[in-house]
Amino acid sequence: MIYPIVRYGQPVLEEKAKEITEFDTAELHQLVEDMFESMYAARGVGLAAPQIGIGKRLAVIDTTTGEDQGQKIVLINPRIVNREGSQKSEEGCLSLPTFREQVSRPKKVTVRARDAKGAEIEMTGEDLLARAFLHETDHLDGTLYISHISALKRDLIRRKVRKLQKAGEWG
Ligand SMILES: [Zn+2]
Repeated sequence: MIYPIVRYGQPVLEEKAKEITEFDTAELHQLVEDMFESMYAARGVGLAAPQIGIGKRLAVIDTTTGEDQGQKIVLINPRIVNREGSQKSEEGCLSLPTFREQVSRPKKVTVRARDAKGAEIEMTGEDLLARAFLHETDHLDGTLYISHISALKRDLIRRKVRKLQKAGEWG
């Protein structure tokens, strides 16, 4: 099923998500499948469980937006274990539609996590994939990308969101 994406302003997006302790269950596999479906429907390259209102440490990533099924990545209880270099590029978030900002991030990162079966995985990504690892892992700690931009720009986005909320144009 396709879940609606929770938008900035909902508390679940700014709370620390809980570790997953049970793996390889029908429920978990279904949730992973639903998250990919929801992410593709929203045309995103990454989606964290809090973005569909579920406070669990689970995220899915596919930087090909579904064009290459071999590129589907499931991260459960992820930890960034290495960061190298830096990159600056535009970043957006499905929970903050229409907004995009330049964000500095490490260029190359290594993430350690578990897959849906509970197997330990370690992956290194550069550029967009590194950005996705960091952005989604941040989500699980209740951190949005706007935490990495200037306070001035962040306040501007907050004000615009509040305006949209008042106008009933923010889900
Ligand atoms: Zn996001």
